[in-house]
Amino acid sequence: MTGLMDGRNVLITGVRNEWSIAWHCALALHRAGAGLAFSVLSEREASSVHKLLGASSIEAPVFLCDATDDARVDALAAQVRDTFQGRLDGILHSIAFARKEELSGEYLTTSRDGFVLAHESSVYTLVNLSRATRPLLQAAGGGSIVTLTYLGAERVVPNYNVMGVAKAALEASVRYLASDLGKDNIRVNAVSAGPIKTLAARAIAGFDTMIRQVEERSPLRRAVGADEVADAVLFLLSPLARGVTGEVLYVDGGYHIMGM
Ligand code: NAD
Repeated sequence: MTGLMDGRNVLITGVRNEWSIAWHCALALHRAGAGLAFSVLSEREASSVHKLLGASSIEAPVFLCDATDDARVDALAAQVRDTFQGRLDGILHSIAFARKEELSGEYLTTSRDGFVLAHESSVYTLVNLSRATRPLLQAAGGGSIVTLTYLGAERVVPNYNVMGVAKAALEASVRYLASDLGKDNIRVNAVSAGPIKTLAARAIAGFDTMIRQVEERSPLRRAVGADEVADAVLFLLSPLARGVTGEVLYVDGGYHIMGM
């Protein structure tokens, strides 16, 4: 895929460690020639990303940003503007959070503040990042925003609970943002990934069962890897997907097409 993203700059959010899906997306984008900038939640994640960058010989700035904080998101947009001379071609939104205690048992018992926290972290961050970076994407003549979702948005997946409801709002946000931003030639899409062992996933009770079910029941009879999700993200961020917006692309070995 060398050259597909030559001359294009992408902001990557949500790298926590080498298992993060966003890190695999960063590797795929780098191999395709994209210039990268990273935004992470904490100093600890920044140091982890610096180590990953050093080991893979990728040069890219790493900015700190809690994406629920409007002022920090605006400051991030200014840092990205200065890094890439005012233009940005793509954003990967790979951010989600819900309290561990909300990811087991009955959805019925979700607390009000846990509900708000999950939606603010996992959905509003996409809206906020899209708002703040719109002028940079406009300056590039258009661009592509990609987020990551999961089947629990549309089916009841045991223990996924409030995160499933947040992912439903995320997928609806993809459609509304695609409609708002299409006139600027900015596309907004989601990749619905099958279960992959990451730190965020480990918070969901019975996560290993989710993987086992995909291995047993999906048409491909195996779980997908983060590298496969990354290739789909690369496609959506690239000019190959220039006619695609408002879409949810499944990278789950076909699991979602099966009757249960
Ligand atoms: P991960 O734990 O590696 O990444 C989650 C990231 O979200 C972390 O880097 C964390 O710092 C970031 N984050 C949380 N709150 C934030 C905030 N307020 N501001 C900025 N960053 C914040 O786990 P992952 O599995 O790579 O998750 C990435 C995305 O993929 C999430 O949206 C997740 O729901 C989605 N997803 C994961 C799976 C899976 O099985 N792992 C499947 C489908 C979708």
